[in-house]
Amino acid sequence: MKGRVDAQVCVVGLGGSGLNVVGELLDLGVDVVGVERGRVGGGATGRNGGFFLAGTPDFHHRAVATMGEERAAALYRLTLEQIDRMWLETPNAVQITGSLRLGVDQEEIEDCREQLQSMQAARLPVTAYSGREGHGLLFPHDGRGNPLRRARALASKARMRGARLFEQSPANALTPTLVETPHGEVHCETVVVAVDGGLEKTVPAVKSVRTARAQMLATGPAYEVDIPRPVYARWGYDYWQQLPDKRVVLGGFRDLGGRSEWTRDAVPSGPIQQSLEIFLRDGLGVRAPITHRWAGAIGFTRDKLPVIWRGAGGWAFGGYSGTGNVLGAVCGRAVAQWVVTGHSLLDGIVSVTRPSA
Ligand SMILES: Cc1cc2nc3c(=O)[nH]c(=O)nc-3n(C[C@H](O)[C@H](O)[C@H](O)COP(=O)(O)OP(=O)(O)OC[C@H]3O[C@@H](n4cnc5c(N)ncnc54)[C@H](O)[C@@H]3O)c2cc1C
Repeated sequence: MKGRVDAQVCVVGLGGSGLNVVGELLDLGVDVVGVERGRVGGGATGRNGGFFLAGTPDFHHRAVATMGEERAAALYRLTLEQIDRMWLETPNAVQITGSLRLGVDQEEIEDCREQLQSMQAARLPVTAYSGREGHGLLFPHDGRGNPLRRARALASKARMRGARLFEQSPANALTPTLVETPHGEVHCETVVVAVDGGLEKTVPAVKSVRTARAQMLATGPAYEVDIPRPVYARWGYDYWQQLPDKRVVLGGFRDLGGRSEWTRDAVPSGPIQQSLEIFLRDGLGVRAPITHRWAGAIGFTRDKLPVIWRGAGGWAFGGYSGTGNVLGAVCGRAVAQWVVTGHSLLDGIVSVTRPSA
């Protein structure tokens, strides 16, 4: 971007969430500009495990305790619909495979039972699972995919529809109607900040997000194992899947790092990578060589619900506590709808935080 650009809305951050804001604004006939610090999808969107999970980051029975039955079930259904929508929008980047939650000990298996009962009571899709991997729950409508490929596809579609998206353009200063980048500035009616990890730094008024690092590794083709769908275990801390080309991607063990993993510094660290490697070999039986190691930043909230914040003339949202591929898209569409119409698909389900007087 060079010089001055005028638009109705400026979206800061072009990951999966920001691109959903852009797409929804275009549907609503809004003239939109997006600015991205690095490349489209270069944040957590392009560094994640590729699980497309319905629901909130908390297991459903816990979300019910936080939000109440009706709101938790309504949010779950919206995320199910969002997965279908993502598959229809970008079929090359999303597959519906189902996902598996495994209980690693008696306590977690009992928690799976509670989740099963709570989801069945709400008529949400889930079955009990017992197989060679262990015991847990199968979610038949979840999916997996390539969030970076999806982000790039959404960005090129948005550009074709008239959105002006600027990469390598960090928003260094934000006011409700002005976004300044090193080479130019956007003048607009509304700014929407769509940043998950590091939101508390980008918009210091959003105090409820805390950023942690999550780490992963990937192997070459692993013909010795067959993992048909994404799996997560140990209360969601550890997660793995096998890609269509047989490579295995594995993430987790963040909790073993203690305080050192509460950082925005998205570089892999020795101890966590070592734990991943031990589990890859001894737990999953993968012998293929490790080809990639990486890390990314995730925004966490205490109640594991996303934050949607509205200040004077501007919006900011994020804090998906580790599962933002689907929830971030729902929130992005909702924020766009709120900006333009004052109502959204999240009305009565997720509340908007306003700055205290
Ligand atoms: C290792 C790892 C594994 C994960 N696995 C999964 C998973 O399997 N399933 C799942 O659902 N979720 C997963 N997550 C979480 C998920 O990746 C995120 O919740 C999701 O990508 C959030 O999308 P976003 O668009 O809100 O944020 P991001 O993708 O982080 O996008 C925000 C963008 O904003 C840009 N930005 C930041 N500040 C500025 C600024 N000042 N100016 C301009 N641009 C700025 C960043 O460069 C970035 O591109 C994982 C995360 C990590 C790190």
